[in-house]
Amino acid sequence: MSQLAIKRQTTKDIEAQIGTLSRPSKMPCHGYSLPATECKRGSILRKIENSVCSDCYALKNRYLFNNVQKALHKRLDALLSDTFTWQHLITELINRKEKKRLLQMARQRRHPKPRAPVSHQQHSFCPSSYNILDTH
Ligand code: SF4
Repeated sequence: MSQLAIKRQTTKDIEAQIGTLSRPSKMPCHGYSLPATECKRGSILRKIENSVCSDCYALKNRYLFNNVQKALHKRLDALLSDTFTWQHLITELINRKEKKRLLQMARQRRHPKPRAPVSHQQHSFCPSSYNILDTH
């Protein structure tokens, strides 16, 4: 598939082929989540007590749901079945999503959400203001 053909695809079409990106809160950018059961290094480290992988977060809780497992394996299958096409599709998807994220951030900076005004009554009953004035 040519790069021009990829550029002409909609974001939904690209996601249908390689899966969606995630938005991990601890990361400064998008992520691409793959099944931890297929993690080669992790499968060795998981057996070692107190290693970083011994309590792997990606092998418990919501990662065990069928729909989540299906999505994780869909991404891995897309990556392994045609790595050449995958690399162009993922590059295009990341570019589009990151551009959108940066535009949203710039818009929020230009038009920050107004803070709720603090009424006089709220302020006078605020426990932290009593602590400040407490001079024993
Ligand atoms: S913590 Fe889990 S996902 Fe992370 S490297 Fe270890 S096994 Fe892989």
